[in-house]
Amino acid sequence: MTEPENRPTNFLRTIIDADIAAGKHGGKVVTRFPPEPNGYLHIGHAKSICLNFGLARDYRGRCHLRFDDTNPVKEDVEYIDSIKEDIRWLGFNWGEHLYHAADYFGQLYDWAEKLIAAGKAYVCDLNADEIRHTRGTFTEPGRDSPFRGRSVEQNLDLFRRMRAGEFDDGAKTLRAKIDMASPNVNMRDPVMYRIRKTSHHRSGDAWCIYPSYDWAHGQSDAIEGITHSICTLEFEDHRPLYEWFLEQLALPHRPTQYEFARLGLNYTVMSKRMLIELVKDGHVRGWDDPRMLTIAGLRRRGVTPEAIRAFCDKVGVARANSTVDMGMLEACVRDVLDPKVRRVMVVHDPLRVVIENVAESAVEETLAPFFPDDPPRMGARNVPFSCIIYIEREDFMEEPPKKFFRLAPGREVRLRWSYVMKCVGVVKDEKTGAIVELRATIDPETRGANPKDGRKIGGAIHWVSAAHAVPVEVRLYDRLFTVPNPAGAKDGTDFKAYLNPASLVTLSGALGESSLKAAVAGERYQFERKGFYFVDPIDAKPGAPVFNRIVSLRDSWAKAAQDAQQPTSGGRRERRGSSNAPR
Ligand code: ATP
Ligand code: MG
Repeated sequence: MTEPENRPTNFLRTIIDADIAAGKHGGKVVTRFPPEPNGYLHIGHAKSICLNFGLARDYRGRCHLRFDDTNPVKEDVEYIDSIKEDIRWLGFNWGEHLYHAADYFGQLYDWAEKLIAAGKAYVCDLNADEIRHTRGTFTEPGRDSPFRGRSVEQNLDLFRRMRAGEFDDGAKTLRAKIDMASPNVNMRDPVMYRIRKTSHHRSGDAWCIYPSYDWAHGQSDAIEGITHSICTLEFEDHRPLYEWFLEQLALPHRPTQYEFARLGLNYTVMSKRMLIELVKDGHVRGWDDPRMLTIAGLRRRGVTPEAIRAFCDKVGVARANSTVDMGMLEACVRDVLDPKVRRVMVVHDPLRVVIENVAESAVEETLAPFFPDDPPRMGARNVPFSCIIYIEREDFMEEPPKKFFRLAPGREVRLRWSYVMKCVGVVKDEKTGAIVELRATIDPETRGANPKDGRKIGGAIHWVSAAHAVPVEVRLYDRLFTVPNPAGAKDGTDFKAYLNPASLVTLSGALGESSLKAAVAGERYQFERKGFYFVDPIDAKPGAPVFNRIVSLRDSWAKAAQDAQQPTSGGRRERRGSSNAPR
């Protein structure tokens, strides 16, 4: 990986530094990333992955991938495969340290019997509702289960029969015997095992009782020799329980749990339940829909692993929950791609221009560097010029406002890599009055040179030669939701009510410069003055590229706000290109 070694520190690094200095765990750092295989990974998981694998890398320790597969009902092998693929793609590797909580079911069962034998756990016949109702609230203590007083022998017998499949789903649970009056609700005799007569993707039909997260997690950490068990803040109140189990079992290795703030992003949802709903109900085209902030979606959109890692570094690790602006992710993507990808010209909404002083048969080719800031690095391509070209419809205005520096009747613009062109006529549809064509002339003295008389040219625009253009499909993606917090409506409105109907706009009439005939699936380009694009790896066919817009050239939402104040301002690229210097 190419990122700098000296990352900003955070409270976890401070803790680890102190642990190492004190010789705790023999100076070792062992972390883990423990996904539940019940959905695809998203950008929030990426933060946890970068953190856990990143700490292991920086402290020369190791990070385990452990599937937290304790719930057979929601889990699927498809999810397991996607999770592995996504972590590898992000640039991390668990080596031989791939584990499954399911592989510890036997050990966990034995330890549960040990707790029963020590009088620290009991079989309870209350159903889920009854357990909830007797658990009390934040302000009121819970009530003891009527089954709390069962003898060790009774409990052992019942637990073994639970395991043997003698009872129905939900008929009994195994509960830790802690304290129904504890101020911490998690300590009020939490459930350790539930009966679920369902096959498990890994253990098959070996088990019909399954451990709870709280029971499985800390013990799995202990089995694997995890030193720093890092999870998100909602588990802070579970930490006393995490420690209680470890203490009762008196295992030789004692991991410690630390919590950090989960990543929240605006204009999206990150709960797996909601993501599953979007996929299953067809609101998106799948888990890898480029509008989804899943790792698979980001990859399909064309975002690079470097950009995601840079974003996670930038977000940092804190203990206070916060929501990050989507613009920050987009800025990281731009920063990573800008120096790396070739620049080409693609007209999204073509307007035909007939150049009257260029012969019909004439074709001129200009060798234009793919990366103007450092021409040798990415080579060059031929940009053909002929008497009919297409320009971006929005680069022409019949009655331009004051600060419009592009084309208008009687005005000149620079055609990128080519001549200065003047608009000399506007052709309209007789019926609708819509502009269908422009007539223009070029100044033949200005090919790659400033006008001889020193006159100033306002802007530079992109264009393509009609005879050489390549039709391309362009998919413009926008935020999936229209409001910053779709899942948090105060009036309980369903998050799907805020889906953005314009989150995907497909342009079928776009025209690319001729070099794009050779575009290959998986390549990235910067379309000048437009943004960064990715050749869709699945839908693009040889010679007929389909481009996903990864991100526009600047924060489109900041732009919307800016444009409201300055209706005629040009883009960043345009201002750069508007210098009179030939290109
Ligand atoms: P769900 O959405 O179903 O509650 P989850 O997102 O917590 O589940 P897990 O598979 O349990 O999914 O997550 C694996 C790890 O990723 C956990 O350690 C979890 O804390 C972490 N994680 C999940 N979401 C985020 C997030 N938004 N920011 C940071 N870490 C996260
Ligand atoms: Mg979870």
